[in-house]
Amino acid sequence: MRIMISVDIEGVAGVSETIQGRRGNAEYEGARHLMTQEANAAIVGAYEGGATDVIVADSHGPMRNIIAEDLDERARLVSGKPRPLSMIQGIDANHDGVLLIGYHAAASNAGILAHTVSGMAFHSIEINGIRAGEPTLFGGYAAEIGVPLLAVSGDDCLAGEISEQFPNAKTIVVKQALGAHAANSLSPAKSRELIRREVSAAVKNAKSAKVESPCTGALNVSVRFHKSLYADAASLLPMMTRHDAHTVSFDVKGHADAISTISALSLMIAGMQ
Ligand SMILES: [Zn+2]
Repeated sequence: MRIMISVDIEGVAGVSETIQGRRGNAEYEGARHLMTQEANAAIVGAYEGGATDVIVADSHGPMRNIIAEDLDERARLVSGKPRPLSMIQGIDANHDGVLLIGYHAAASNAGILAHTVSGMAFHSIEINGIRAGEPTLFGGYAAEIGVPLLAVSGDDCLAGEISEQFPNAKTIVVKQALGAHAANSLSPAKSRELIRREVSAAVKNAKSAKVESPCTGALNVSVRFHKSLYADAASLLPMMTRHDAHTVSFDVKGHADAISTISALSLMIAGMQ
C-alpha cells in the first residue's frame, strides 16, 4: 500500500509563532526538529497501518526544513522548490491515501498562523466560492486523481475546516488555537503518539476511504491580495480578471493548474519584497 505524507510546520505541536518557521534563528532549528519528528510519527503509523511504500513531501516555506538525516529511513523525501505540485509533489494515481501533517487553517480564518500558501501575499483565496486553505488545494488535487485524504493534523480551527470540506477524513488535533500566535499545545511526545496512533488507524481503513473534495471539475479561483500593488502585478497575466483594487480571478480546468498558478503568484510577490 502506497501512502503520501505532506508535512508543514505551522500545525506542529509546540509551534505558535512566525519566527519558528523562518530560517536563521535558534527557534526555527527547534521547530524543524519537531516537524521532522511528527513526520516520523506519521511514517511509523503508516507502516503500522499496512503501508509498504511511503513518500514524504517537505512542504513549508523553502521546502527544505525536514532534517534528512533524522527522517525514518523507510520513507523517500521530496524537498526544494519551485515544483509543479508544490505541497503534494510526489503523489500519483497509484497512491492509496494522503496524510497532511502539521497543517494550519486557511487565510482569513481563525487559527494558529492561518494562511493559504503565502501569508505575505494573500488575504484570502476562494475556489468556486469556497474559502480555500491548503487542504482544499492539495487534498482536492489528490481527490481529482482518485486518492483519498485519510487524515490531517494541526489545530482545532483546521479540524473544523476539514470537517466541513473533507467530512470523512480523520482530524488529529494536537493543539488548541488561543489566537493567531498563541496555542495550548500537547507536548511533542504526546502529539507524536497521537499522530502515530491515528495515522495507523486511518491507513488501516484506506482501502474503504471515501474520495471526496469540496471543489470538483473546472475551477474558478478568486485571489484577494493584501496590497493593490500585488493585484496590479497579477493583472499583467492575460488569464487574470481584475475585480477590484485587491482582487483578481482566473479559470482553470483542475487543481494542478490552480496550484501552479497560485505558486507562481506567490513567488512573484515574494520577489517584490
Ligand atoms: Zn508552512
